[in-house]
Amino acid sequence: MTRAFNFSAGPAALPEEVLRQAADEMLDWHGSGMGVMEMSHRGREFMSILAQAQADLRELLAVPDNYRILFMQGGALAENAIIPMNLLGGERGGERRTADYVVTGSWSVKSQKEARKYCDVNIAATTETEQFTRVPQVAEWKLSKDPAYVHICTNETIHGVEYFWTPDMAAAGLPDVPLVADVSSHILSRPMDVSKFGVMYGGAQKNIGPSGLTVVIVREDLLGRALPFTPSAFDWKTVTDNDSMYNTPPTYAIYIAGLVFQWLKRRGGLSAMEAVNKQKAELLYGFLDDSDFYRTSVAPDCRSRMNVPFFLNDDALNETFLAGARERGLLQLKGHKSVGGMRASIYNAMPLAGVEALVDYLREFERSHG
Ligand SMILES: *Cc1c(COP(=O)(O)O)cnc(C)c1O
Repeated sequence: MTRAFNFSAGPAALPEEVLRQAADEMLDWHGSGMGVMEMSHRGREFMSILAQAQADLRELLAVPDNYRILFMQGGALAENAIIPMNLLGGERGGERRTADYVVTGSWSVKSQKEARKYCDVNIAATTETEQFTRVPQVAEWKLSKDPAYVHICTNETIHGVEYFWTPDMAAAGLPDVPLVADVSSHILSRPMDVSKFGVMYGGAQKNIGPSGLTVVIVREDLLGRALPFTPSAFDWKTVTDNDSMYNTPPTYAIYIAGLVFQWLKRRGGLSAMEAVNKQKAELLYGFLDDSDFYRTSVAPDCRSRMNVPFFLNDDALNETFLAGARERGLLQLKGHKSVGGMRASIYNAMPLAGVEALVDYLREFERSHG
């Protein structure tokens, strides 16, 4: 068996160690006589898997005590509706309120579009006219007077734009307004200061585990503000009051995510991951910068360490490039159709050796076609 280097943006490669452990435990989890997929979610075996996964995630991200970790379903796109539904009610429920969105790429475009069904949306800033190649500073944001929340996407998976700083709502003049962040594609890639956010959310299939699981981290005081029509299974308060077991959770996805959390702890946690992720990103961007054959378009201080879009100067070579890559076991490098070119997603599970193999191929392809 040969495992290729898989650069998929998501669902993405998982650590080989995790897949091997899951394979070993597939038929009989820890002597229980059953596999995880076959267990009652309310049985003691699965309850222990869930509790361990939540505790490990809390430890890895240093989630403060006044935040709850919710395991939900529907992905980040469902959360785009679940967020306004959960933050627009409470004492001021019934008022049509405004939410502010900072738009830095395809995913935040989708987020604000969905929110318009539930509230007025103020686009505080957008870099659309610059083809989404940077993150606008808070000084450029035109916030509304009294938004229910401010939403950002801290890593734009398609455009490859990442925030390396956290907006400070107090400095922005709105100390009581929660900051909500879609962290789908870079959560766990480095330490983050959870206390600066009201809500962080993301689908698991980029940097955590299999699709089907959505992780939501919510500050406690934001619970209980849901609009009355919010489906119970999507009401954060109902979900957390039932410890993510109001309805059947995605049990196998939670189990695999839990194995990934333990793998991350064995590797030294998020500071250690950050060091490797920096090294991988610097190697790849460094090569691309030095080459006249390839180019990138994102401003250097906003370049995502997880998703690296790049282009061949001659688009006519794209198919030849991809075919050669596949032959070498470098998979899923084709860029998103809205951006074109190539994209290498180099999440936690991508080893340095995978990026080295990619750079070797980039160099060789340039030599033979440049
Ligand atoms: C993949 C992705 C999404 C979409 O997630 P789904 O699980 O398909 O709903 C949303 N936001 C970001 C930043 C993503 O990377």
